[in-house]
This record gives sequence, C-alpha cells and structure tokens, in this order.
Amino acid sequence: MKRITIYDTTLRDGMQGSNITYTLKEKILIAIKLDELEIDYIEGGFPLANEKETEFFKQIKRAKLHHARVVAFGSTRKPKAKAKSDPQVQALLQAETPTVIVVGKTWKEHVKYVLRTSYAENLEMIYDSIATLKAEGREVFFDPEHFFDGYKDDPEYSVQVLRTASEAGADVMVLCDTNGGTLPSEVTRIMTELPQKELKPLGAHFHNDSGTAVANSLAAIEAGAVQIQGTVNGWGERTGNANLCVLVPNICLKMNYGANACKNLKHLTNLSRFVAETANIIPDRRMPYVGETAFSHKAGQHVDVLNKAAHLMEHIDGSLVGNERRILLSELAGKSTIVRKLEKYGEFDKGSPIVKELITQLKNAENEGFEYEAAEASFDLIIRKTLHKYTPLLELNNYHLESYKTGDTPAKTVGRLFLKVNGKEVMGAAVCVGPVETLDKAIRDALMPFHPSLEDIKLTDYRVRVLNPESATEAKVRVFITSSDGKHSWNTVGVSRNIVEASWQALVDSMEYYYNNYILK
Ligand SMILES: [Zn+2]
Repeated sequence: MKRITIYDTTLRDGMQGSNITYTLKEKILIAIKLDELEIDYIEGGFPLANEKETEFFKQIKRAKLHHARVVAFGSTRKPKAKAKSDPQVQALLQAETPTVIVVGKTWKEHVKYVLRTSYAENLEMIYDSIATLKAEGREVFFDPEHFFDGYKDDPEYSVQVLRTASEAGADVMVLCDTNGGTLPSEVTRIMTELPQKELKPLGAHFHNDSGTAVANSLAAIEAGAVQIQGTVNGWGERTGNANLCVLVPNICLKMNYGANACKNLKHLTNLSRFVAETANIIPDRRMPYVGETAFSHKAGQHVDVLNKAAHLMEHIDGSLVGNERRILLSELAGKSTIVRKLEKYGEFDKGSPIVKELITQLKNAENEGFEYEAAEASFDLIIRKTLHKYTPLLELNNYHLESYKTGDTPAKTVGRLFLKVNGKEVMGAAVCVGPVETLDKAIRDALMPFHPSLEDIKLTDYRVRVLNPESATEAKVRVFITSSDGKHSWNTVGVSRNIVEASWQALVDSMEYYYNNYILK
C-alpha cells in the first residue's frame, strides 16, 4: 500500500487567512492536537518573522510531541551571498527543528522581476541553501514556489530547478501552486511529464483559488506525490489551502492509501471544531466529512431508507471521522424520523403512543414558530420530558434586566436573576453591553457554585430571525444558539415577541441539554 505523509501548515500558511490569528499558547495547543491525530509534519512558522514565532520553536520542544516532526519555514539565501552567513538560513538552523522547508523561485518571471537576479544565480541560491542545511543534519524539504505556472511558462527551467534541489540533497520537493490557479487535469499532465525517477520524491501544496485544492491534491497523489500539504478547515491565504479535514479521509477511506493519521480519523471532527473555536470562527456547517450537516437527513422518506440501510444514503459512516448523524425535524417529519430520534432512549415503533404524542407536540410548537431542524438539543429535551427522563437544572423565580445609556458612552445592561437550584434560592448578577450576554453571564453566575463544568460551555453562534416582519416591532423572533464544550456542539431554539425571552429559552435549553446529557449521564 502506498503511504502518504501528511504535512500541516495551519500554523504558518493558515495564519495568512483573513481574521485568523493564534496566540503563542494557542499555536502550541493546536500543535498538540495535530500530534494526537498523528499528522506527520507540523509547520510551526517562519523563525525570522517575529519573537512569537521564535518562541514557538522553543516552547514546542518542551511540549514533547509523540509523533509529529516540527518544521521551520524559510526561504533560500539572498542573491550573491553565502548560505552559511545568510540570516534566513541561519534562522532556520537556530529554530533547532529536525526538519526545515525552504522556499525557492521556479518561475522565470519571479527570478527576473522579484529576485532581480540571473536564472543561474537562482539555481545557485537553491543549491547552496539546501546543501548548507543538509550539511547541518537537517531533513530538508524544498518548496518550488509557483511551480505549475513556472512549468507552463518554461518547462525546462522549472525541471532544472527541481534537479538542482534534488542534487543538493532535498529530501522531498513539494510542488507548490502558490496562486491556486491550477486545475486537476493540469496537475496530472504536468506531473506525468516530469522525470520523476531522476528526482527526489515529490510532494504537493495547493491553494484553493480555483476551488480545486483538494481535487488537485488527490490528482497529485495519483500522479506520484508522496507528501501532501494543507491546513485544518482549509483556512489560509485568500480562499485558503487544501483542506486536511477533507483530504485526509479521502486518502484513507476512498483511495485506500496508508497514512499515519488514518488510524486516528475519529478525532478529525473534534480537531476541526477545536481549531475553529480557537480562531473564533464559526465552523462551516456544510463542510464535507466534519461539518454539522455532513450526515444530516431531513425528508421522512430518506430517514425511512436510513433506518433500513444507512449505506444507501451516506457515503461513509460519519462516526469514522468522529462526526454524527443528525436527523432534522420539520413539519414534513415522518414517524420514522421520530423513531430515529428516540433510538438513544430505547426501541419504539412507528405505532407507539409516544411517537404519536411527540408528533403532536412538534406540530403545535411549529405553529408557535419553533423550528427544531437546527435545534435538535431543544427537541431532545421535549423527548426527555415526554419520557420522564428529564431533570430540571433550574427553576426561574424572576429575572430583571435594565439597559441604559448616558450621552456618548456605550450602552450597558445590568441584570439580576433569582433561581431555585437543588431546592435552594440563588441569585446571579452581571453587567455587560448587551442584554443576551448579560443574561448568559447572570445564569452562569448563579449556577457555577453548583455545576462548575458549565464554565466550559461557550456560545459559538447566536442567530435571530424575525418570523412575521409585517408586525414590525411587535413581530415574533426566533433565536437559535449554538453551544460547545470543545468536544460536542448542540443547537437550541427560543421563540417570543420579546427577544430577551426568546434568548432566555434558548440559553436555558442549552444548559439543560448539557446538564441532562453530559453532567448527569
Ligand atoms: Zn501556500
């Protein structure tokens, strides 16, 4: 079986994405997660860039990764210098990583306009830099920048670049599609034309500007690449990089190639969500394999088939990548959808009175404006209540919120609530900008002494929809909340003419769902 090594660049290329930054501590935590999945290489960054990057290489050594090799990224030496005394090359050595990756020019246009040096000197720069790093005992990967464009412009010169790097001792040469403009058919053609037998092994690094980064990576593997690079969730410069959360399962489950990460695929969904949470970005619900809707089913008939033979409706078993099947509820929901939902509580058939009762409740709630399709946790609580498997977390006595603003200062909300928890009267209070935030903090304030683990719950998404806009300010609103404890995520819903009340319902559902499913369990 052909083996593929997986190279992650979330912490370097991934940080070029808009709105993406990680603190030093977060970078270390992400690296540890990647190591748990047995990703083979983790590119840590550019040691010359700033102190944070330099410090990363120091601290990651102490983290003692079990599997992954940490890689420092840099470029070839400057024209007309010596690699031995070049600050770029020196910085790569000072990072003290077992592996380094060196980026060099391949496209003649870049040599001419960016480096402003001769084609021969560019080759010399590549050779000298790689040979110097090899002499220091490093594993060296070479990144021929804009390789595919360079090849289209002048195949001979770009092959000469690869030959030079190969002769200098590069261990793998990672063909880069730096501007992401290449299509899979071109990858296949170009890689097939290369004299691969005369060169060191090839890898590939694709950007997603044509929407084909994953497809290009798969084409590259089929055309001979043994190393593939990408980022978690595909986030990176511009439209991003090849998405490892899609690429790795394709390699392991569809192409039947071997990779160390294949045996740990069940951690993949968790990795995707962990990185999203760390970046403070709402995960793409429709992402293949790891997205929330990747294994969700709606129409009654689909669910009927699902009950009989899941493989007819799903391309893989979602649990293989740590994801789970979601049965979406709607007015269209057939009895089989409800039977599926009940599965975790026992066996019920379509004719059971419980199923009938739940369908009635669902229809009534939908008439009120509730929608459970994207709020399965709220529906889970309805099931629990119907089956008498529900333990209330709190009982509300009253809440009181007051928003105020003085002159030009930002608005503030003061909130106070009185609850009964475990038979005791408790009070919670908070002061924040918005009313929902205040309510959320005040509930936690009251509950924390009883259930400290509620602190782990984060609201990752909050959406409001106006149900009947024609009623203007008297309209009903529906609030959806997505919550996460870092391992699981769940959605809840609330409906009211009062936005604070709708939010209250969704917030309490979120905590009660967590309490019943994960604390009491
Ligand atoms: Zn890149």
